[in-house]
Amino acid sequence: MKQLQEKIELSKLKLSKLLNSLTEIGVLKVSPSGEISLYKEFDNLEESSKEIVQAINQSQKQRQKFEQSRLEMMRSYADVKGCRREYLLNYFSEQYNSPCNNCDNCKAGVSVEATSHQPYALNSQVSHKEWGLGTVLRYEGDKVTILFNQVGYKTLDIQTALLRRLLQRVT
Ligand SMILES: [Zn+2]
Repeated sequence: MKQLQEKIELSKLKLSKLLNSLTEIGVLKVSPSGEISLYKEFDNLEESSKEIVQAINQSQKQRQKFEQSRLEMMRSYADVKGCRREYLLNYFSEQYNSPCNNCDNCKAGVSVEATSHQPYALNSQVSHKEWGLGTVLRYEGDKVTILFNQVGYKTLDIQTALLRRLLQRVT
């Protein structure tokens, strides 16, 4: 890495970021001993560079989407109709049986009872046609919230998900 750094005159931070990105998208591989090599041979370097740039952009966009979904999730805390304690704990993948009788919603008696219809177990892994793998975080009314590895937090209508067979259990 040091040799590489001297050759291409990048700062150490920038270089390691670049190497990380390239490893993430499967251009490079890093051996346990720290040796860096190409993941596969590229026949046409010009074509390949285009692909690589595309892949890097793609993965950046994905990260932005993920961050955005996290913010939205935090923002919607204000509009939660259920127990806030439960909401927060679910958000961090922890289970809690509401009501806590301590948050404003529970005190006001407006907490929505968790639906008894929970087709996917809490904290279980599911797979979505478009969004890939995710973890079931919480149920609220007829909605289920899932944290997807690729796209972040998504809230789905349970009936729609079932009818369209959007989600598959992963065992
Ligand atoms: Zn509560």
